[in-house]
Amino acid sequence: MAAALRLARAGVRVTVVESYDEPGGGLRSVTDATVPGLVHDLGAGFHPLLIDNPFTREVDLIAAGVEWAWPEVQFAHPLDAALDPGHGAAAYRSVEETAAGLGRDGAAWRRIFAPLVEGWDELAVDALQPPLHVPRHPVGLARFGAQAVLPAAVMARAFRTERARALWTGIATHGFRPPTVPMSSAIALMLGTAAHKYGWPVAVGGSQRIVDATTRLLAEAGGRVETGRRVASLDELGSPDLVMLDTGPGEALRILGDRAPALTRRSYGRWPAGPAAFQVSFAVDGGIPWDYEPARRAGTLHLGGSLADTTSAERSVERGRLPRLPYVLLGQQYLADPSRAQGSVVPIDCYAHVPAGWDDGDAALAAVVDRIAAYAPGFRDRVVATAVRGPAQLFAENPNWIGGDIAAGLVTPLRLAWGARPSLSPYDTGVAGVHLCSAVTPPGPGAHGLCGWNAAGVALDRLERAAAS
Ligand SMILES: Cc1cc2nc3c(=O)[nH]c(=O)nc-3n(C[C@H](O)[C@H](O)[C@H](O)COP(=O)(O)OP(=O)(O)OC[C@H]3O[C@@H](n4cnc5c(N)ncnc54)[C@H](O)[C@@H]3O)c2cc1C
Repeated sequence: MAAALRLARAGVRVTVVESYDEPGGGLRSVTDATVPGLVHDLGAGFHPLLIDNPFTREVDLIAAGVEWAWPEVQFAHPLDAALDPGHGAAAYRSVEETAAGLGRDGAAWRRIFAPLVEGWDELAVDALQPPLHVPRHPVGLARFGAQAVLPAAVMARAFRTERARALWTGIATHGFRPPTVPMSSAIALMLGTAAHKYGWPVAVGGSQRIVDATTRLLAEAGGRVETGRRVASLDELGSPDLVMLDTGPGEALRILGDRAPALTRRSYGRWPAGPAAFQVSFAVDGGIPWDYEPARRAGTLHLGGSLADTTSAERSVERGRLPRLPYVLLGQQYLADPSRAQGSVVPIDCYAHVPAGWDDGDAALAAVVDRIAAYAPGFRDRVVATAVRGPAQLFAENPNWIGGDIAAGLVTPLRLAWGARPSLSPYDTGVAGVHLCSAVTPPGPGAHGLCGWNAAGVALDRLERAAAS
């Protein structure tokens, strides 16, 4: 939608073609998943990177009806008393408040995040752009890059307590990889800095409100959306000046067909698959009774245990085994936005990292419930209704999520830096006028709109140059 809006506002006549019955992709929310009326985000629920970025600076989502709301605690990481007598750690918008909760590791947390929060406006100019550009702030970018390339497990050596190591690891693991892989620190640095700079807000009424707003803005700019049509080939699109593929490389290859040049065929064909998500929506009477008090006020919870526990669980997943206690990312959006609840019954949306294509839904659901109940005895008694979306259903809903892989491929260092194909522009497919604009392009996964925004900028440049020549 970001790509569509940039093109439409530049005067291009745009049609968005969507295979599902409704637009939105990884931003949909529904009110009929568990108890009627409870608002569940089925995809992205938290939007730190949408608050102020090159896309939202041009496209005013607030003026278009989106209202942001923040939880008191941005994210929390409960721990067993055996690992941490305080039962866990929490991140607040303030670096100081977060550091204060980390005891003797407070200074290390402050050393990592305070300069990034302070310099974020300058850093973002370079970090959120396509990779090949002359940096506007090379010193800040180099400082960020030196930490970002490290495995999160290496950066974790800056901390002496399990509590701080776990808080750090929990954010690094958003990338669906063990914290021992290179560049897993990049994700922790970006998301941690965003939590302190912008908080992790939710959209009041559900993330669907963002979809509704962008759809409306697109219509105002003369664009339109056609749903329920899966594009299989370029040939069925007539001869448009531009095609923007919001797809994974595999789907892009199918659509490009014989027109894909050899380099594109090779790179897209070898695109590595990532693990899957097992998504669960719960309706819970009275909320989850977490032992760790700040978790009762936190928008997001990272349920992964210690650094060693998370590493072992993520490695099992990559080897195709379901861990006894998988890493679970859990959202309590209703705390920031009480309008999503129905009386005392509140919506909870979470997903576990499971092996690609995992098809034993009973085992995965039991593991998710065990994981939550380990930190919240009494959770089971409060569950009123449960709805699951396993890997097969996720793939059926969205062709980008092969085998339930909601990151549309393994999150590798090369992908974060270059996208799907080594070339001067990561948005090029090698076919004139056809661009890739999905989360497989820089700056990578997340509902920030910047893959589309950047790709449309490249496409418009080309279009203008072609018109001028
Ligand atoms: C459960 C879950 C939780 C998440 N939580 C967060 C979060 O809190 N914050 C965050 O920033 N991100 C989060 N994400 C990630 C975020 O949603 C994705 O990174 C983002 O949606 C990727 O955007 P995209 O445009 O690349 O792809 P998508 O959002 O997947 O959109 C691509 C669209 O293209 C359609 N499509 C694909 N192929 C075709 C075809 N051949 N023809 C027609 N249509 C086609 C798909 O149906 C889909 O609607 C989450 C994702 C999930 C699933």
